[in-house]
Amino acid sequence: MDLKGKAAVVCGGGGFIGGHLVKSLLARGVNVLRAVDIKPMEEWYQISPEVENVVADLQEKDNCHRAAKGADVVFQLAADMGGMGFIENNKALCMLSVLINTHMLVAARDSGAERFFYSSSACVYNADKQKNPDVTPLKESDAYPALPEDGYGWEKLFSERMCRHFEEDFGLQCRIARYHNVYGPHGTWTGGREKAPAAICRKVLEAKLSGKHEIQIWGDGNQTRSFMYIDDCTKGTIALTESEIHEPLNLGSSELVTINQLVDVVEEIGGVKLNRRYKLDAPKGVNGRNSDNTKIVEYLGWEPSIKLRDGLEKTYNWIQKEMLTLAHA
Ligand code: NAD
Repeated sequence: MDLKGKAAVVCGGGGFIGGHLVKSLLARGVNVLRAVDIKPMEEWYQISPEVENVVADLQEKDNCHRAAKGADVVFQLAADMGGMGFIENNKALCMLSVLINTHMLVAARDSGAERFFYSSSACVYNADKQKNPDVTPLKESDAYPALPEDGYGWEKLFSERMCRHFEEDFGLQCRIARYHNVYGPHGTWTGGREKAPAAICRKVLEAKLSGKHEIQIWGDGNQTRSFMYIDDCTKGTIALTESEIHEPLNLGSSELVTINQLVDVVEEIGGVKLNRRYKLDAPKGVNGRNSDNTKIVEYLGWEPSIKLRDGLEKTYNWIQKEMLTLAHA
């Protein structure tokens, strides 16, 4: 399917990835009808004036029907979520996102949408395969037998299967990406829902600004992860939605780093060296996780490739601007 000229709706459009996706779709020539999010408009990370921007709770079925009206393609990114600090302590809230996914699938089917994109997560993968920081990258089949991240991951895996059955039983074409740690400007960087890259950028900036050259790191810093820059995420999301790939696909970088190495890079960008204090009882997620990109390369002839150093520099500069704006407000 060529998305150009198609009518699209982005759910979670006030959020980090949703806000970027609206802009990327518009640039691709997609007719984005509306962006929908529960947050008050002043809290949206980005607003595209070309589209109808709607504040609505998508856990409610009627709102979902209104949201899906007229759409050829529904991008479903709305979820109550955050970094490890949020998802380990708010499992019920994370699981309630099942209402959004259920009602949006029903609404997309009822309104005659052709396609439904669902943003799943690497948190669906079996925890037993992520015990060692020296990881074997996760391939799509590693989600089963199921032992996902408690709460958030179970909801994502359940909603993936719902997509699959809506396709099989009702003919609604579903495309599913398993995002691996997305980062970039115009995302959460403070308040408790932020993820590691933004949190580390903020902490390094705070240390610089306060002159207290210390940083707290969650866990022992040896946990490994890969981080995908937002431009790769939106590019992959659009390519997957246009494709004929019917199974969940990893969408992540395969550039593996430890959290300590992530801090090294941000310190280098900030031009500081900080004393590291390790908070061993903090939420830290699995010990190691990386994306096996064999399938995406095979199917799309492409994989996320923006270097961590390059993406982090842009993210750091954006957070710095945000902090300075707040300080002068
Ligand atoms: P985000 O929190 O910035 O965006 C999600 C948006 O959904 C928020 O703006 C939120 O207000 C909105 N939302 C929550 N409940 C809602 C409701 N009831 N009705 C309407 N809107 C509601 O997060 P993000 O990083 O942009 O993530 C987008 C999607 O990608 C989510 O589904 C998330 O689970 C998934 N994902 C993200 C990452 C990542 O690293 N950022 C990784 C894996 C999966």
